Amino acid sequence: MPTSKTLFPFPIDGEFRPVFVGPVKRHWTAAAERKGFSLIGRAVDRLHVVLGCQTCGQPTLKRINVVRDHAPECPHCIAARRAKAARTMGACLIGPDPEGDRHYGLYEFACGHTGRRQHHRVERAAAGGHGLSCETCTEERHAAEAEAQDWQLIGKARRDNPGYRRYAHACGHRQDVAVANMRHGDVDCAGCGESWASKPSQIYLLSFTLPDLPVIKLGFSSNPAFRLRQVQRDPGQTRGTLLRAVPVESGHRAICIEKALHAHIKAHRPDLIVPPALFRGPIQTTSEIYHHHARPYIQALLEAVAAGWDPSASESPDSAAA
Ligand SMILES: [Zn+2]
Ligand SMILES: [Zn+2]
Ligand SMILES: [Zn+2]
Repeated sequence: MPTSKTLFPFPIDGEFRPVFVGPVKRHWTAAAERKGFSLIGRAVDRLHVVLGCQTCGQPTLKRINVVRDHAPECPHCIAARRAKAARTMGACLIGPDPEGDRHYGLYEFACGHTGRRQHHRVERAAAGGHGLSCETCTEERHAAEAEAQDWQLIGKARRDNPGYRRYAHACGHRQDVAVANMRHGDVDCAGCGESWASKPSQIYLLSFTLPDLPVIKLGFSSNPAFRLRQVQRDPGQTRGTLLRAVPVESGHRAICIEKALHAHIKAHRPDLIVPPALFRGPIQTTSEIYHHHARPYIQALLEAVAAGWDPSASESPDSAAA
């Protein structure tokens, strides 16, 4: 029973395959039917058959023992399912894994960069409504965050922790820093001794336009203009502006003042606080956001700080916020 020179007249899994001359056993056909396929014929050698998928109509080559004893899968249906999951996230499955792992594929993300991803993770992310983040974009963002703090991102951390990177300080010293700490400028240089706590900082007031809701954000940063860009996912939509920045002699003072201001507002005007559910998404922040009509009140608090009032030291005079 030889493999014939005749080819099937249609491609099977992307290739034209030779017919194998021989009988098709009735229990193979029955097994295929039970598992959602039609048995089209034998192909390639004595071990293989061609199945037609009853879901997508495409032919696929399978070993007879798989048809008989296991659950054969249609690679075309699987590919279509993966492509659909990728599209859900604005991405595109562009080919097999360049490293040859069948569980991975090469994806192009919404930003235009490409990367390897595990197929089932992509499908799970699509089902869960998560995005596919791009490591190239992520590293570019980490580099920009470092630059804003006078550090330079130079690569992978020495320590084995995915939350860390290696950075070079403006003084030339290099060290590992947690990405999250670098983002907030919470980093002390072991080379020259400069620390975020001793570095000059600013208390800022930013304004944003959320869909149907103008809001303001009070916070501290050594670089409020950078912070403004950083907190917005889509600046064209949220149109953030820097309303006021009050210089403070150190990061340590800034964090004390910021905390005290939030506590002061919470104690005296809790009605000004916007519930997090309303801004999570367009604005990336974990700290308090206030309604836009709080602007005169909070700006008065900031002017009092600029004039020397220390909200962390005393129970504030209410005249400060009048
Ligand atoms: Zn199929
Ligand atoms: Zn990207
Ligand atoms: Zn340094």
